[in-house]
Amino acid sequence: MAHISGSDRLQLLLLPEAVDDYVGPENPVRFIEAFVDGLDLAAAGFARVMPKATGRPGYDPADLLKLYVYGYLNRVRSSRRLEAETHRNVEVIWLLRHLKPDFKTVADFRRDNHAAFRPVFREFVLLCRQLDLFGRELLAVDGTRIKAVNNKDRNFTRGSLAEFIRKADEKLATYLKRLDDCDTQEDDGGSTGVRSDSKLKEKIAAIQGKRDRHMAMLAELERTGADQISLTDPDSRAMAKMTKVGVGYNVQLAVDVKHKLIVEQEVSNQVLDMGLLAPTVTAAMATLGVERIEAVADRGYFKIEDIEACEKAGVTAYVPKPVRGPAVREGFFSKDVFRYDPDKNVFICPAGQILSPCRRGKSRDNVKIDYANRNACKACALRPRCTRTYRHVSRLENEAVLDRIAARLKARPDILDRRRETVEHPFGTIKQWMGQGAFLMVSIRPVPQAGSFRPARRGQAALARASAVRAAFQFHGRISSIRLAG
Ligand code: SF4
Repeated sequence: MAHISGSDRLQLLLLPEAVDDYVGPENPVRFIEAFVDGLDLAAAGFARVMPKATGRPGYDPADLLKLYVYGYLNRVRSSRRLEAETHRNVEVIWLLRHLKPDFKTVADFRRDNHAAFRPVFREFVLLCRQLDLFGRELLAVDGTRIKAVNNKDRNFTRGSLAEFIRKADEKLATYLKRLDDCDTQEDDGGSTGVRSDSKLKEKIAAIQGKRDRHMAMLAELERTGADQISLTDPDSRAMAKMTKVGVGYNVQLAVDVKHKLIVEQEVSNQVLDMGLLAPTVTAAMATLGVERIEAVADRGYFKIEDIEACEKAGVTAYVPKPVRGPAVREGFFSKDVFRYDPDKNVFICPAGQILSPCRRGKSRDNVKIDYANRNACKACALRPRCTRTYRHVSRLENEAVLDRIAARLKARPDILDRRRETVEHPFGTIKQWMGQGAFLMVSIRPVPQAGSFRPARRGQAALARASAVRAAFQFHGRISSIRLAG
């Protein structure tokens, strides 16, 4: 019995198929077409929405936007590859009605209209809202680091510049001394060493030049008050080491838990997530049209000022408290085991002793109060597990907001799992689409027994495939002209 065979590629059709026949009624390109045609591109800020009365007509930004949306949906991000799709991809041929903008036109469109893409994203979110795809009750917020087009060797911090300059000074001192030694030998009638002398001078000039460049960068950092400088992509920043990204950006997402749809996204060059919760969630609230919402984030967002800002904006935040501080680093009791009594304004320590306020100070913009009981610590049996001398516990004057968060988290411990299931999902998909993925199949398969391969037949199959590809190339022109004529 034969396999299913296709139709003859050279068969001429009496009633040729239309391009529309290749695009099914449920095909996403039909949605892209309807969505983009429903947008007010002029209001969104796209250039050249109205064609000029004179000159050669340009492409409609709606067509180029359709191509872009199609590309993002199908993991085609490069303008050259998008151009290629306009020639070979029947969905794109349908979407663009046989238009074939070149890669430069596609790239220029993105460059000239980058600010207008945000309103398009917002319109899509509003459409999802109309379709009741958002629960509008709970948002999960998280950030991921995406690598920038900037090698880490072309990123400098104040510390790294100071170190480069110090090393350059050391090298210069060594080379200058060697140069002096050469001169002394020459004066003493030794070998002239002209060659090594000129080489040393070249090295000194190179180091001096590099040192001058580093000095200029350091002066620039002092002038601007910035803490880093990136030479290829000036806005990118060296991210925290554990992110393994090197130099990049911090992408923030607010995801609605109902269908794990992204409500708000923001790209920032802030290294840490601290301080980004309130801005991300309040922007999402404006899009969702709600005055109150719950938001859950990981402990990287734990910052009292940010959590206070959330409360003021109507956000009920769930952020676990990170376990950190000098006591934890030294293996002593963490602050969690000290119970605060708000009525008496004291802490009860693990030994049941009362720690009273003893000192007021400042922590960033907040008032910090230290609590201690020196006499109790002196005779305490738990002291080896608690402190070296006497223990003090600090509390910010406005720390009640953190107590409220802790109480909420205690009442809903499952909410942190919901955060992970919701917001990690889009990040995984985005990274997979950006080519930072993993194997598509799982497990190591057993290796076939020796002898089960048939090299001769495999060779024949490869030859057959190659000749088929050659034939396809030869007839490509004819096939295309027949289809396009239809
Ligand atoms: S060392 Fe001081 S603070 Fe720590 S448990 Fe003992 S009495 Fe309490």
